[in-house]
Amino acid sequence: MSESDPAEPADPAELTDEQWRERLTDEEYRILRESGTEARFSGKYVNHKADGIYRCAACNAVLFDAETKYESGCGWPAFYAAEDGAVTTALDTSHGMRRTEVKCASCDSHLGHVFDDGPQPTGKRFCINSVAMAFEETEE
Ligand SMILES: [Zn+2]
Repeated sequence: MSESDPAEPADPAELTDEQWRERLTDEEYRILRESGTEARFSGKYVNHKADGIYRCAACNAVLFDAETKYESGCGWPAFYAAEDGAVTTALDTSHGMRRTEVKCASCDSHLGHVFDDGPQPTGKRFCINSVAMAFEETEE
């Protein structure tokens, strides 16, 4: 993030592909902008348990509260709820599957997928790439 750079639009949804390539690492670009997926159990947040918030690695918007993170065993960080209005979903039929893609509502970057086999109270499992998020510890 270089918020002071006057060449970049204030709204991350308006960034050009070239600007995204400049601000993201190759791995971040592959996942966030090309709907890639990190290898199972490879992500830095898979077993991460600290209290705090998870922000979008592309635009810094708050996506998930660590309180909703749970042990799903799926190999990616899993949450049973997203912050209000933080994400959007879309049908994803790639790789011969019907899945629901999860995107950042602020910058439209790909985050992961959401499934209906999560725990209560929502029954949802937001399966999110670690690379797509930046954790921020919060004080009690
Ligand atoms: Zn974002």
